[in-house]
Amino acid sequence: MKRIVLCVLMLFLTVNSCLADELRLDLESKYQKKVMQVGFRILNANGIDKRMIFSYEPDKRVNAVSYSTTKNIVVFKGIVPYFDSDDELAAVLSHEIAHGLDFHAGFWRRIAMAFSSIKYEEKADKKAVDMMVNAGYNPVAMIVALNKILPEENWFERSGSHPVGSDRLAYIYEYIYAKYPAYLVDNEYRTNLYYQNFLLTSQKDRELIRKKYAQQYTPVSNVQSK
Ligand SMILES: [Zn+2]
Repeated sequence: MKRIVLCVLMLFLTVNSCLADELRLDLESKYQKKVMQVGFRILNANGIDKRMIFSYEPDKRVNAVSYSTTKNIVVFKGIVPYFDSDDELAAVLSHEIAHGLDFHAGFWRRIAMAFSSIKYEEKADKKAVDMMVNAGYNPVAMIVALNKILPEENWFERSGSHPVGSDRLAYIYEYIYAKYPAYLVDNEYRTNLYYQNFLLTSQKDRELIRKKYAQQYTPVSNVQSK
């Protein structure tokens, strides 16, 4: 009798772990496909004729990276649960594609990027907003996604190569406000918790940046109200 119980238990455990493996592979291939689809949609919509490879890696890091030498763009598993829509994934991919374009510009650009990383990060964020709009994604998703992802230690202070988080979201918002105001008029993210929280915490930062941007950008009028 004991032996039968043991056999049934073994069978149950084996079937169970096979199913879990299958489920994991299924999810991984689903994410891999999604990352490629969104990535290639951004490349095509923006007429980018440079080759870039998109991949998904089952690694816990809450991050996505663009590799300067291989031109590979990798989205790590840890970041995936933070995305509630393709627009949010598109925000992160667009930022990495913008870096990818700089990497394609050659050796001297890479040197310049190493010396003034903050400048190139800001440039990549703004370029990412343009690319999202061109590909039909809502650029407000970049504020929502970053508000969820950026760690506390990067919120008020610089850590590594990226600008201070609170500044970063404020200038992205002001860039959208100045260049694509229609996305903020009838905003589908108005009731989004993360967006509301950003509005609440960024008033001073936004005011400062708004003055700076006032003369810099002319709004694009042909964007449909969203
Ligand atoms: Zn970056």
